[in-house]
Amino acid sequence: MSAPDLAEAAQQLAREGLVVGTAGNVSVRTRAGLVITPSAVPYEQLTSAHLAALDAVGVQVGGTHRKSSEWRLHLALYQARGDVQAVVHTHSAAATALAVLRRPIPPIHYAMHQLGGEVPVAPYATFGTAELAEGVVAALGAGHAALMANHGAVVVGESLAAALERARLLEWVCRVYLHALSGGTPHVLSPSEMAAAAERLQSYRPAPP
Ligand SMILES: [Zn+2]
Repeated sequence: MSAPDLAEAAQQLAREGLVVGTAGNVSVRTRAGLVITPSAVPYEQLTSAHLAALDAVGVQVGGTHRKSSEWRLHLALYQARGDVQAVVHTHSAAATALAVLRRPIPPIHYAMHQLGGEVPVAPYATFGTAELAEGVVAALGAGHAALMANHGAVVVGESLAAALERARLLEWVCRVYLHALSGGTPHVLSPSEMAAAAERLQSYRPAPP
């Protein structure tokens, strides 16, 4: 995973309105630790020179700007989950609205299979703290997406592209859920309905080259 990809990914999230100003952050796992977007650089101006390289315990070893204040969250996710190669944390509006309601998202659409099924809500803790990181790791479990109470959302991916796609999907699902809630009581898919959809999605996955 190259650093320019990460800067480009962060800019993409800003263009799509998933992150605003300097809120939210993106990282990728590296052999030495991780590379994460810096604090206090607006995403539109972000280049690979700004990215902060951290070692395996979170000490900054490269980059012209200070690591994101939420680096503990990213590091904890890489430590807890060997399959995770990229982490995207946003304050995207619909996801944050549900995080404010502290309302987990039940499987209301088969596409939520890509998020790991139901999306949990991690307990509230002050941003940037180890307590927040621990709560998110516990809530996420083996899933791919979690809301963070009164804060935002986080998704993980086996690649940067997968994490970006999940960040977009999560925001879309949250918008749909909020709309559905405003019109009545949303129906939830059963475990067997979700399993059948998962099986079908697998069969549509492109064959490896
Ligand atoms: Zn945040």
